[in-house]
Amino acid sequence: MTGAPIKSVLIVGGGTAGWMAAAAIKRSVGPNAEVRLVESADIGIVGVGEATVPPIRDFNALIGLDEAEFMRETKATIKLGIEFKGWGAKDSAYFHPFGTFGAGPTLADFPGSYFALKDRGKAGSLESYSITSHAARRGRVGARSNDPRSALSGFHTAYHFDATLYGQYLRKVCATRGIERIEGEIVEVVQKPENGFVDHVVLKDGRTLTADLFIDCTGFRGLLIEGALKAGYEDWSHWLPMNRALAVPCAKVRAVDPYTSSTAREAGWQWRIALQHRTGNGYVYCSDFIEDEAAKQTLLANLDGEALADPRPLRFVTGRRKTLWDKNVVSLGLSSGFIEPLESTSIHLVQSGIVRLLQHWPDTAFSQTNTDGYNRRLTREIELIRDFVILHYHATRRDDTPFWRHVRDMAIPDSLAERVEMFRDRGLLFQVGADEYFSQGSWMAVMMGQGIVPRAHNPLYGYQDLDRVAAGFEQIKQAWATTAENLPAHEDYLKANRMWADA
Ligand SMILES: Cc1cc2nc3c(=O)[nH]c(=O)nc-3n(C[C@H](O)[C@H](O)[C@H](O)COP(=O)(O)OP(=O)(O)OC[C@H]3O[C@@H](n4cnc5c(N)ncnc54)[C@H](O)[C@@H]3O)c2cc1C
Repeated sequence: MTGAPIKSVLIVGGGTAGWMAAAAIKRSVGPNAEVRLVESADIGIVGVGEATVPPIRDFNALIGLDEAEFMRETKATIKLGIEFKGWGAKDSAYFHPFGTFGAGPTLADFPGSYFALKDRGKAGSLESYSITSHAARRGRVGARSNDPRSALSGFHTAYHFDATLYGQYLRKVCATRGIERIEGEIVEVVQKPENGFVDHVVLKDGRTLTADLFIDCTGFRGLLIEGALKAGYEDWSHWLPMNRALAVPCAKVRAVDPYTSSTAREAGWQWRIALQHRTGNGYVYCSDFIEDEAAKQTLLANLDGEALADPRPLRFVTGRRKTLWDKNVVSLGLSSGFIEPLESTSIHLVQSGIVRLLQHWPDTAFSQTNTDGYNRRLTREIELIRDFVILHYHATRRDDTPFWRHVRDMAIPDSLAERVEMFRDRGLLFQVGADEYFSQGSWMAVMMGQGIVPRAHNPLYGYQDLDRVAAGFEQIKQAWATTAENLPAHEDYLKANRMWADA
């Protein structure tokens, strides 16, 4: 059964998720449907979320943003990956870079060859085969090349930005594209008696807003998807026990690092994200293992500049909405769930939800097959990311605090247990089709970084002329180091490309 085309879309919520959805949907529907956004200044937004992953570049291109303008407006910097300190063991550190290890096509089977060489003592550190790691360690950045022969073809980058400024910037962009913004607090969600679809929402001042399709971007509240439709929440606290965070900006005291730092603490971890004008910091922790005041003191004692505000407390429950899209309501952003910020995947999942929604764009008949397909694919993607994040905790060798002993010993999902065992047994890595965001390289970086060492490797890779393979690896390592050395320093690059707000 087909229905009439969607003529009106109401986006409920004006945080990062709401404005991203507004910009992308309007770009796709054009004049064929009305797109409005309602938000409440009194309620406000979460306003954290400063680190992203490389596909954000595609999203910004999809909605037609100019990169230099976007970076100036949001005080953005370049991110090349994440440095993890104290995760595998208390004094250990490793880098999870964006992009690839090795270089195609000759080193396309990088992991197999790497383990064969390592077995013979002929492999360097994993990091030394990543161009982005070399650049990050030197504080240098550049642009990715489209030429597959270039060292920079594997140079994937993302951004750090001020989340509040990103929302404001998108709001400004949306205003020029015919998206109406409505200020007001929703006090009631009214469903159609015959089928439970949302008919309209009622604002505090009595105004009503109707639409064919509602996008719930109301943050943790999930006003429509949970408040009205009772979609239910799958709680993942037993795998991801973090439930609180304290966020605080501090003064910038040194050149901006082109990577996020994640430092393990007594009952969680601390982020450090350098922007153009300030440094963002936060302590993500589990309240079963540390008092709020102690967490605050830990955070404040570990800033590299003067705190610019009081630490802001945030609470959350890790998990996902059981039904992400129900009837004529699609939840995006925090209203659809929250894994936790360790691998900066929340904004990415907003993007992924939007792109999938456009692929599954409904008509007013709202085919259940179409809705189920969306839910199945996005749920799969979320669960694969969840497993990747759990890995960081599960694979710790730390036993110095009750928190680290707890996460080291906790049960993990079967899907993750299988992956870890395959890797430990034979160094085998795999990616679960197009729905999986993290690449084999990411899994390899984190497993090895956390200290999981394969007992053996696929013997087929040992049949190669390993001296020749070793020479190829050495060449790559040297080439990547030289290329990185010749890239501009981070701030110089931003200034030269008109990406720096004060330039
Ligand atoms: C500690 C922490 C760190 C994070 N770090 C990262 C990170 O580094 N990278 C990343 O990708 N993500 C991160 N995130 C997640 C990221 O902040 C969110 O995914 C992103 O900001 C999207 O939020 P949102 O738009 O869904 O919700 P919100 O920002 O909460 O927006 C909700 C909107 O709904 C409106 N609203 C709510 N109720 C009503 C009502 N009754 N009437 C009218 N309007 C209403 C509000 O006014 C607001 O506009 C982090 C989250 C936390 C908690």
